[in-house]
Amino acid sequence: MKFPSIGDIATKVVITVDIHAQVSEAVDIIFTSRHRTALVPYNGEYFIFGASDILLLVTKNIDLSTPLKNLQLTKIPTILKHKNVLDTLDMINGSAEYIAVVNEDNSLYGIVTHTDITNNIDPETLMENYRLQDFLKLGRRMKWVSKEIITSDLLEDIAMNSFDNAIIVEDLRPIGIITTKDVMRLVKEQADLSLPIAHYMSHPVETIHKDCSIKEALEFIHNKSYKRVVVVGSDGRLTGVITQKELISLTYSRWAVLMKEYQRELSVMNSTLETKAKEFELKASLDALTGLYNRSKFSELYNLSYKTMLSRGTTMSVVMLDIDHFKKINDTYGHNAGDTILCNVAQTITSTLRNIDIVCRWGGEEFIVLLPTAGLVQGVMVAEKLRVAVESLACDPRVSVSIGVCEVRRGEAMLQTIERADKALYLAKHCGRNLVKSEEDSM
Ligand code: GH3
Ligand code: MG
Ligand code: MG
Repeated sequence: MKFPSIGDIATKVVITVDIHAQVSEAVDIIFTSRHRTALVPYNGEYFIFGASDILLLVTKNIDLSTPLKNLQLTKIPTILKHKNVLDTLDMINGSAEYIAVVNEDNSLYGIVTHTDITNNIDPETLMENYRLQDFLKLGRRMKWVSKEIITSDLLEDIAMNSFDNAIIVEDLRPIGIITTKDVMRLVKEQADLSLPIAHYMSHPVETIHKDCSIKEALEFIHNKSYKRVVVVGSDGRLTGVITQKELISLTYSRWAVLMKEYQRELSVMNSTLETKAKEFELKASLDALTGLYNRSKFSELYNLSYKTMLSRGTTMSVVMLDIDHFKKINDTYGHNAGDTILCNVAQTITSTLRNIDIVCRWGGEEFIVLLPTAGLVQGVMVAEKLRVAVESLACDPRVSVSIGVCEVRRGEAMLQTIERADKALYLAKHCGRNLVKSEEDSM
């Protein structure tokens, strides 16, 4: 999922009205620009002047020459344009329908609405399984009246009870609607409000069936630029009205929940993958039977130690071990017993050495040890310790190892060094096995 910046989704065409302008001027500007609201900047803050304000003015008989400054306009939150859509999460849960988008210097860049946000985060299948009917069960308020009602009475009722629309019905079937846009028109045209509402209502009303999904409803109002859906049952009778704001806040809160779950899921997935990657890496560097390092890991560690040796001017030794008469053990006791002995010997070698020493199963019944801080004399001493430890191993059958030791030479490739250790090992075998020989012995 990708989340656009606020600047990307903001509407840049914003109607602004000076706070000193009169209500009638503001109405003119809004009406001719075919907008629903205008932004009123004042002292670094942003206010909204819209249809609900106008409604209130009409019902309270306030003079339209009143400057906006004298009204109680609603302040809206602001957000920097480089912020992310996710940063509006907290803002949009409040009552604000609009958010002013500002540049770094707080000058106005544009405006975002709930619709802009949900359209851009695109909840896609999110609401598909949520039916309008389920939503209507939540006890939505709506205003519906007969077509005979006097317009001024209805407007007063709408304003007093904070409705932003009323549905005009006949035999419970919606035949017209009065929205804030209509109210704006009435004010503009200085209509005679003593006439029945049937004179002024917008009609016919496009309705949507209560079995529709929330997603379909959102698409419907998006395509038609409506602010609400009028919901009917199969008999065509009015069952409810849901505003865009209600639909979107429902979608949004669901989306926010999903987002949180998704993020948690992602981080769990990430750490699992990391652990797995480490496991795989380790597995790839170890010998399956004995758990010792394999050849490739040994080579890697050898090269690191070799560099350290060069930079610090120290010495290091290679010890090569080979189990004596192992073939015979296999032949006599079976391959499984042979495996067990390989593991025991590996374990004995590891526990006899220090942590800094590097132990590897070189192949079959051969092991290599790198002693990163030992010269030849010390290497031979360690090798002797290893030989005694294996010889003393309380296993059946008893085993022994022959060992060759050599000191690492500067400028020599690892395999050449190992070859010298192997030569010493060959000498140990030749001299009767269960012995330690150094390269000096083989010269
Ligand atoms: P020497 O004393 O000269 O080293 O004699 P040896 O029998 O140990 O030497 P040789 O190289 O002839 O035989 C090594 C045997 O080790 C042959 C092979 O079957 C056995 N071997 C190699 N890998 C494994 C293993 O993973 N498990 C078991 N059980 N045996 C193995
Ligand atoms: Mg061998
Ligand atoms: Mg052997």
